[in-house]
Amino acid sequence: MASPSGQKTVVVGAGPVGSLAALYAASRGDEVEVYELRGDLRDPSTTPLNFTKSINLALSERGINAMRHANSPTLLDAVFKETIPMYGRMIHGEKKGKLFDEAQLYDVHGRFQRAVDRGGLNKTLLDSLEDMPNVTLHFNHKLTGADFRRNLAWFSDHSASSPSEKEVHFDFMIGADGAHSAVRYHLMKYTRMAYSQEYIDTLWCEFQIPPSPTNTFALPPNYLHIWPGGSFMFIAIPSPDATFTSTLFLPASLFAALDAAPASLVPFFAANFPGVIPDLISEAALLAQYAQNPHLPLISIKCSPHHCAASAVILGDAAHAMVPFYGQGMNAGLEDVRVLFECLDAHPAAAYAGDATAARAAALEAYSAQRTVDAAAINDLALRNYREMSHDVVSPLYRLRKFVEES
Ligand code: FAD
Repeated sequence: MASPSGQKTVVVGAGPVGSLAALYAASRGDEVEVYELRGDLRDPSTTPLNFTKSINLALSERGINAMRHANSPTLLDAVFKETIPMYGRMIHGEKKGKLFDEAQLYDVHGRFQRAVDRGGLNKTLLDSLEDMPNVTLHFNHKLTGADFRRNLAWFSDHSASSPSEKEVHFDFMIGADGAHSAVRYHLMKYTRMAYSQEYIDTLWCEFQIPPSPTNTFALPPNYLHIWPGGSFMFIAIPSPDATFTSTLFLPASLFAALDAAPASLVPFFAANFPGVIPDLISEAALLAQYAQNPHLPLISIKCSPHHCAASAVILGDAAHAMVPFYGQGMNAGLEDVRVLFECLDAHPAAAYAGDATAARAAALEAYSAQRTVDAAAINDLALRNYREMSHDVVSPLYRLRKFVEES
């Protein structure tokens, strides 16, 4: 049956950005097919991204506003239910052998960011998609090829016991398949895309801070907690189950040194992240999680344009993966969706003598022109904010007090 818009939109990747893009396209009446490499996240047997519990993120107004405009009346309430307000950051240190913390509010008017579990947010978005009659979700489907002149894509289907190949026609493809995007790879063969990527010399490893013995948060819950270390840092973000998801960011050479001498992990934490062990994480849990959880790289990607003619566009990490220190990777990806559909709405087929392809080509041109510049800017800010979080958060007041007390 033809969709109300007459357009078939294929979304590759059902992460937060792809799921939101599918919601936007479906609300405009497109026939939407979503293809996702992994199994359905809502199925407990599916291995989460990065093979750990899931990462906690800071959701800001940029991302919230994109969801507000998704024409899904219950979406934001469902998302907010699983978030915790973070009114500022709390910096942890030690002075004269005593633990010290300093709260730094984000905003004098009390505005805040929200801590959210990426997997949980993703599941809420998938639930909203499930309610739409013009959306079909195809899990365990990997994009293996695409022809953006004939608008054909190929997927290997691993949903059954013996894998098969599928050819899919589309009018419009939205590639939201993450930093190692297959859509971007194929798009490069059809458009003169400038592309650069950089791995920074920092890896990250996740830890969990359990609730206190009285089953409450072990730290004040409404903050992003930071133990700055100069060239490294440890952070903790609250979860609704009274745990904190924490992340150790460390230069690759220091990870290698700790790997070579695992017994030095506990003294390293004791010396650099005061109050973490054994108060927040037991020594045994620290050692176990360090060994079990992967030590993952951080990539920064810039490319331009983000689209190819009227056929395809890449959004989110596929277009601009960034280091996480500005807390804006997902937020910017969600914003891509809002900006893309604003561009599409501003170029209706009626303004192009009913030619939907010409209208979409103009919309995508406008989108790339605006978004490549914005994406590069936020990418640079994210790189710069590593110094802010790991070093500069130690405010002049903090340094002055420490100096006075110690001299
Ligand atoms: P992804 O989440 O990577 O989803 C891509 C999807 O595409 C996946 O489901 C994948 O399985 C699928 N896929 C891949 N290849 C194929 C294929 N060939 N065929 C079909 N499907 C495919 N952002 C914030 O906004 N705030 C934060 O506080 C924040 N903190 C972060 C902390 C850390 C440690 C890290 C690593 C990142 C953080 N980010 C943060 C960034 C955020 O996680 C990403 O920007 C966001 O997840 C990107 O969403 P996405 O949907 O574009 O891509």
